[in-house]
Amino acid sequence: EMFDLSGEAAVVTGAGSGLGKAIAEILAQAGANVGLIDVDQDRIESVAAGIAACGGKTFGIAADVSAPESIASAVEGIRGRFGRLDIAFANAGISRGPGFTEAGGTLTGTPQDDWNAVIDVNLNGVFNTLKAVSGRIADGGRIVVTASTAGFRADPMVGYAYVATKAAVLNIVRQAALELAPRGVRINAIAPGPFRTNIAGEGALDVPELNGLWAQTIPLGRMADPEEMKGLALLLASRASSFMTGGAYVIDGGALAL
Ligand code: NAD
Repeated sequence: EMFDLSGEAAVVTGAGSGLGKAIAEILAQAGANVGLIDVDQDRIESVAAGIAACGGKTFGIAADVSAPESIASAVEGIRGRFGRLDIAFANAGISRGPGFTEAGGTLTGTPQDDWNAVIDVNLNGVFNTLKAVSGRIADGGRIVVTASTAGFRADPMVGYAYVATKAAVLNIVRQAALELAPRGVRINAIAPGPFRTNIAGEGALDVPELNGLWAQTIPLGRMADPEEMKGLALLLASRASSFMTGGAYVIDGGALAL
């Protein structure tokens, strides 16, 4: 069966919350052993407990994707534990400050610390994760990087560093697709629109005041639930996507169509 991941091993960064949690759940449900990586140990434990309760095989390692040795040793720990690595999601990411309607999102109002922190996680973190994974993943493996619709256009909801990093990782994916294709390793990006996660602080995006904004900017008229990422994640992680590499798959309720 083309969606079956039985006997395979996966790693997911940012697995403690939001999209990473949903991705880890669907990989486990499809039969994979799933290694969870997140900076937040409590979040890892709670996601691992949920997956285990559903009969999935999983465990977590706390690591920071922005620190090359930290992510490399976590990936090695997971590969060692499962004896192989077939699937990797470079998903961890952060957003700092408000959009350009407020000071933190303007050119002069962007704090240097915010710029550096977002570059460290969203750009350096993806590079560090791909570096840690590429030599360890089996021939025929699949890699997925979480970009954003903000990698394709300006976005008033996020700052300069966020749009810069999300555009950058789309091209890193193309470059890596070229490098890894001879081994049959495929790599693709996903580009989500607004999903109800903890990226802006717990529950921050899930407020009625934003309903008007979603109605105006998203043809489907609402934010997405992380559950709605599961289908695309499983497609890209499985043999069902066997001719797909170097691509960027938008999942945004039609936002980019406007
Ligand atoms: P989230 O905050 O709910 O989850 C992100 C997880 O990553 C958290 O558990 C956090 O602890 C972890 N993390 C943060 N920094 C880390 C680091 N340095 N090392 C390891 N783990 C780290 O947010 P989310 O929305 O699920 O974000 C997942 C990805 O989706 C990010 O790359 C984000 O940019 C992207 N994205 C989200 C949306 C959205 O609307 N939620 C839209 C487009 C793209």
